[in-house]
This record gives sequence, structure tokens and C-alpha cells, in this order.
Amino acid sequence: MLVAIDGPAGAGKSTVARAVAAALGFTYLDTGAMYRAAALARSTSDAADLARLEIAFDGDRVLLDGEDVSLAIRTPETSQAASRLATDPAVREALVAKQRALIAAGDWVAEGRDIGTVVAPDAEVKVWLTAAAEERARRREIPVADLLERDERDATRDASPMVAAADAVEVDTTGLEIDAVVEAIVGLVAR
Ligand code: C5P
Repeated sequence: MLVAIDGPAGAGKSTVARAVAAALGFTYLDTGAMYRAAALARSTSDAADLARLEIAFDGDRVLLDGEDVSLAIRTPETSQAASRLATDPAVREALVAKQRALIAAGDWVAEGRDIGTVVAPDAEVKVWLTAAAEERARRREIPVADLLERDERDATRDASPMVAAADAVEVDTTGLEIDAVVEAIVGLVAR
């Protein structure tokens, strides 16, 4: 079983997806961390072969070729670099293949921008998580302009642009408590 949670930066995807996974006993997959790790690899070597990169998760830690990059991938520079790299169709193809291999067995809550549309169009439950831009920027502690720049790039790229799947349930988290959002999504899965 797969719960797909997509939406723009700062909508609360990571917090919500993690909590939904814990509530259901499913495994959590942060696909954004994979784009971030790939961007980090490219920042040190232009020629880094992304298909061969080993991106692994160990609990909350993200490992790139065995090295813990959990903190390094969260800098503002890596955020912007990841969103630029994510416009490259070859990069997307390599990472989508890795994501599909991971979710092929077991029960998952996967979050990103294209889970319900590209990675797993057959996902049993699809959620499109949003929130007002000002609130999203405040949650990420970044300027609204940076957030909007990333949203714009994600939504207008040619390769798998960020868009809600036609069959996704939209949940606007503006002003909502996390618990209420998690409860609503767990309720969708139960149905
Ligand atoms: O979700 P997060 O902010 O960590 O993602 C970082 C960047 O990776 C996003 O801005 C987006 O450009 C890219 N991304 C993507 N597709 C995904 C997940 C993330 O293009 N499924």
C-alpha cells in the first residue's frame, strides 16, 4: 500500500508524512532528500553519475555513498541547487527508478512533488498538501521570495512539473494543527 503526499515546499509534507507513517506502521520515504543528496554530489563533482550514487536512509539519517549528509542537504544553497537539478530529465529518471525500486515491496508513505503523478500513479491514497505562501516561508524560516522562486521552478519545469494529481485529495494546512492533518489523512487510508 502506498500513501502519496505531494505539494510545495513548507506545506508540512515531511512532518505530516512522518507522523502518518508512524501512525499506520508504514515506512516513510522523503524523495526530496534524494534530490538534495544528488545536488550535493553534483556540487563536488560535475561528472557524478547519479544512477550509480548510493542514496540510502537509516532512520532519520540520509546517507550518500555511505556518508551521513543529513545536515549538509538542508542548507539554503542545497535547497536551491536541488530544485535546479530537479529540472534535469535524466536526473529525474535516475531518481524515480530508485524510488520505484524502494516502494515496490511493503507499505509506504512517500512525499515529494511527483509521487501521485509520475512515481506511483496507482497509489491507493493521494494527498496534495498546501498552505499559504507566507505561512510556508515562516515554517521554513526563509524569505517568501526564495520559497516562491523554488515553487515557480518546480511548477514550470518541462520534466514532471509539480502539479496535483487529478485524483488527489487537497488538504490546506494553513492554520491547522499537525495532529488534525495527520488524523484526516489516516482517515482517508482507513476508508
Ligand atoms: O521536498 P524538498 O524541499 O526537500 O525538495 C527539494 C527539491 O527537490 C524541491 O524543490 C524539488 O525541486 C525537488 N523535488 C522534486 N521531486 C520530488 C521531490 C523533490 O522535484 N519528488
